[in-house]
Amino acid sequence: MTPTIGTLDTLPRTRLSHLPTPIDAMPNLSRNVGAANLYAKRDDCTGLCLGGNKARQLEFYLGDAMAHGADTLLITGAVQSNYVRMAAAAARKTGMRCHVQLEARVANASASYRESGNVLLDRLLGATIHRFSHGEDEAGADRNLEAIASELAADGAKPYVIHLGPGHPPLGALGYVDAARELLAQLDERALRIDEIVVPSGSGATHAGLLFGLRALGSAIPVHGVCVRRARAPQHARIAGHCRALAEILQMRNPVGESDIDLGDGVLAPGYGTMNDAVEQAIMLAAHQEGMIVDPVYSARTMAGFLARARSAGKGHNLLFLHTGGQPAVFGYEDDLMPALDEDAG
Ligand SMILES: *Cc1c(COP(=O)(O)O)cnc(C)c1O
Repeated sequence: MTPTIGTLDTLPRTRLSHLPTPIDAMPNLSRNVGAANLYAKRDDCTGLCLGGNKARQLEFYLGDAMAHGADTLLITGAVQSNYVRMAAAAARKTGMRCHVQLEARVANASASYRESGNVLLDRLLGATIHRFSHGEDEAGADRNLEAIASELAADGAKPYVIHLGPGHPPLGALGYVDAARELLAQLDERALRIDEIVVPSGSGATHAGLLFGLRALGSAIPVHGVCVRRARAPQHARIAGHCRALAEILQMRNPVGESDIDLGDGVLAPGYGTMNDAVEQAIMLAAHQEGMIVDPVYSARTMAGFLARARSAGKGHNLLFLHTGGQPAVFGYEDDLMPALDEDAG
């Protein structure tokens, strides 16, 4: 029987994902890094418009949007945002229009970054694109999106804004509370012991949701968050805040203690959406060893943090990498990836 977690199963939800996602062994990568056994939970295979972690998150936002009778979805993100692409797809699937705001957060002026990858998909999905050119400014981007929503409402639309920053209920994290339930059932079925799960920590919905779900179900599996957007200290506060908010939404005690929140920012430099040597190596290694594509912004950064932990893990340790998707961004980062490919061929 499926265990319950607070009020989770009573909340509005729109099914959008192919679940459960598989768990793959990564035998070649395991041999490459040493003594640990490496596995991947394939949340890049959630199905919604090329997949990724946002499918699970959007199920709860779309459920809420439909419950509010919305007809237009609004979301903001970096130019190569996977969330924006998948929100646009979710809007289409549920019969809504979609307005997306693309923030010039990353100093990358290449034509492929601005127009290919996720941006090309946003356009194919027929999203109305707004450009926010002020760089990294989470509050400012939110305010601008609200202003667009007000204009749409004045014209008679029923807009619904997906807010990702603090100060708004982290509805997306509910998708990962549910994913914890899915994962524990899979591990149980396969009699697979996992000693650590490594996840990206960006908006924190994935990290906080999975951690909350595991602890709520009595699992003590350590969850290590790889910082992909901001440094450890502010990210820790964000994850703690999300867990408190989740407890409120789910009307239950917060099962996550301060010491459960584990973060590393060793592969973050030079910053969000920008490649470094460890990220580049992770991309090449995952592709060459496992035929698996990871993206420069999120999943390769997480893979880089994962590999660092795998290399220092003891013999027989089982480590699970949460693959959150992001592959369309590879096409947006074509220019950044070229030097690695030229080197590789030489
Ligand atoms: C958004 C995203 C993340 C970060 O997830 P959060 O829930 O925002 O922390 C990680 N990987 C990919 C591919 C993403 O698109």
